[in-house]
Amino acid sequence: MKVFKFGGASVNSASAVRNMANIVHRHLGDSTLVVVVSAMGKTTNMLEKLVPGVNPPAQHPALLKQVTDYHYTIIHDLFPDTSHPVYNAVENLFQHLAQQSALPPSDYNFDYSQTVCYGELISTTIISHYLNSIGLNNLWVDIRNVIRTDNQYREGIVDFAATKCNTQNLLPSINTLPLVITQGFIAGSADGHTSTLGREGSDYSASILSYCLGAESMTIWKDVPGFLNADPKYFPDTVKIEQIPYNEAIELAYYGASVIHPKTVKPIQNKNIQLHIKSFLDPDAPGSVIGPFSTIQPLTPLYIFKNNQTLLSILPKDFSFIAEDNLQTIFAVLAKLNIRVNLMQNTALSFSLCIDDNPLLLNQLRDNLQNQFRLRYNQGLQLITIRYYTQDIIDRIVDSRTILLQQRTRTTTQIVIQ
Ligand code: ASP
Ligand code: MG
Repeated sequence: MKVFKFGGASVNSASAVRNMANIVHRHLGDSTLVVVVSAMGKTTNMLEKLVPGVNPPAQHPALLKQVTDYHYTIIHDLFPDTSHPVYNAVENLFQHLAQQSALPPSDYNFDYSQTVCYGELISTTIISHYLNSIGLNNLWVDIRNVIRTDNQYREGIVDFAATKCNTQNLLPSINTLPLVITQGFIAGSADGHTSTLGREGSDYSASILSYCLGAESMTIWKDVPGFLNADPKYFPDTVKIEQIPYNEAIELAYYGASVIHPKTVKPIQNKNIQLHIKSFLDPDAPGSVIGPFSTIQPLTPLYIFKNNQTLLSILPKDFSFIAEDNLQTIFAVLAKLNIRVNLMQNTALSFSLCIDDNPLLLNQLRDNLQNQFRLRYNQGLQLITIRYYTQDIIDRIVDSRTILLQQRTRTTTQIVIQ
């Protein structure tokens, strides 16, 4: 069994869906395929605006129209016969979405997942019907009955034991129909509602399923030729990395390489399942493989750029140094507010940390710390991580910009610059 994941960009138009169907068709027969699909294009961004309480209800009709028009353009292209059952199925989902977004706001995390789930429910409904219509008979699975999370609803924590049990119940159906179409990103909470796994979480969904089903491999189909040594948006001459050790991939995703969701690698590493990253635009090209390798191949510097960073200095107001007790207080607040630290460094008198720009969280952080500490910060910075760096490379990247903070280990340097 193989698990495939198709992200929003790979299904963002009728021709993209046809291309995706082609890829599925060519791999069917070799083995059973479990295909995990994201919402089409940027649908999730649109749906986030329809979460109750986010925008005034008066704006909902226009937003809903945008979502429905976008999908109907794709459906009309794929299904010229308007009596096709896909029309009823999708209309039903749009009605539920409209009802959901009209509810009075309750808990944001709860409302969020009950609303944004329609992106994946709609995309998989369209794709499942389309594949059936071209003879690729498939089983549409509502993943909310399979992947179980806690009751956080948004960024839910996966209950692997319950999920594994649910996937085993799926096996008899998969054995009779060797093509499964299901949703990425969404899951079912312990108390029986919809939950989500965090933005860009479909990679993680595919990895959870690969782990639980003991897949022979997992493939993420992307709009890039594989795992590149830098984001091509920022870097003209990227090099494709052919082989990446599991731990290296985890480090890179953690530092902010956007090619895979950071939680993706651990489950497949535990089962020694290789993860292929391939281009849906050039499906025969070899792509990149994450697996049990000892080094990256070819060995080349890797660059990760994170924009919109805040560098915060926290200084005790009393005569104390920055030591264990002060750090304990600071970290308790960071953990409580769920703020991720991208880089940190301390001196005797101050503790510096680099976090994503977020004025709301920064205010809350200040409210929580201002009795004991003074806070200074700089916003709109860039955090650059370079693995396998040389001084030459650092000089070239930094150029004439001001370095506010820098750290080096033997393999990695991280630089915060203005
Ligand atoms: N549709 C979700 C998002 O845009 C999940 C994903 O694409 O992986 O974040
Ligand atoms: Mg996506």
